[in-house]
Amino acid sequence: MKQTECPICHEQTNVLHHILFTIGDHSDYQIRKCANCRNVYTFFDTEINIAEYYDDKDYIVRDTQKTIFFRLQKFEYRKVIHKIQKLISKQNQSLLDFGSGKGLFLHFAKEEGFEVKGVETSLPRANYAKEKFELTINTDNYFKGKIFDDAFIVITCFHVLEHLTDPNNLLKNLVADNLKNEGLLLIEVPNFKSWQSKWAGKDWLHLDVPRHLSHFSRNQLKKIIEHAGCKIIKQEFFSWHLGIIGMIQTLFSFFGYRKSLIIDLKEKKSFQLIFCIILIFPIAILLESIAAFNKRGGIIRFYAVKRKN
Ligand SMILES: [Zn+2]
Repeated sequence: MKQTECPICHEQTNVLHHILFTIGDHSDYQIRKCANCRNVYTFFDTEINIAEYYDDKDYIVRDTQKTIFFRLQKFEYRKVIHKIQKLISKQNQSLLDFGSGKGLFLHFAKEEGFEVKGVETSLPRANYAKEKFELTINTDNYFKGKIFDDAFIVITCFHVLEHLTDPNNLLKNLVADNLKNEGLLLIEVPNFKSWQSKWAGKDWLHLDVPRHLSHFSRNQLKKIIEHAGCKIIKQEFFSWHLGIIGMIQTLFSFFGYRKSLIIDLKEKKSFQLIFCIILIFPIAILLESIAAFNKRGGIIRFYAVKRKN
């Protein structure tokens, strides 16, 4: 694939698009700001096989259930699930996780009483979710229409929109046909306007080029959610497992670290690396908390309600 147009408005007038910076040994990827809709996106005009990038080390499916990372995810997801329960003020409701990965969020939501289903096009991940957690997962490529027989009370979508070639229309279709009126939509994406992104620039952990095609800010994400017929009712900018690790990598980048902390943690886990993380951990928590308080945390998490037709 190539990416030569804005994923949101599909504007192609390249001369007008502002190049923020380039990435790669030969400036293979440009981070551009669309002159038409102001969306920031990844531009590349040489053909790449994007599937190969999803087979990378950091995307390999493995059982992480005994790691600290898993415990952090569990802690975080449970908190999110309790917030959802408060917002819909009902128990035992139906929930669809779009881009459900290995099914962790669905698994925890099920434990908390939700009736859950997922959508995941990566077969190794979908199979893991089916086998490990006995979940129902649809593996078809989605663009429009109903996915299961009934619409859902809750739809969640964690770190998916930034990967899509047409997130604006896909989300609109997803909500129109799969979320009940006054149902809850939860969207989480990396925050391009976060401090950790500004400070690290091209070394930011969650830039993740070329897998991430859009790099959202609050205002851009808000537009997409409103385009899908939803009204934002709650916003958060703090994530334990993604915000803190992103901030740690940003702090490391000040000292010349140019790798991916997530890959390093999964691959090597050297004593020096763990020691440096422990040393920098309190500073990362402090900075990321202040950043999140100022809406500049590493992630944007919006809770929105579907308006009645
Ligand atoms: Zn645009």
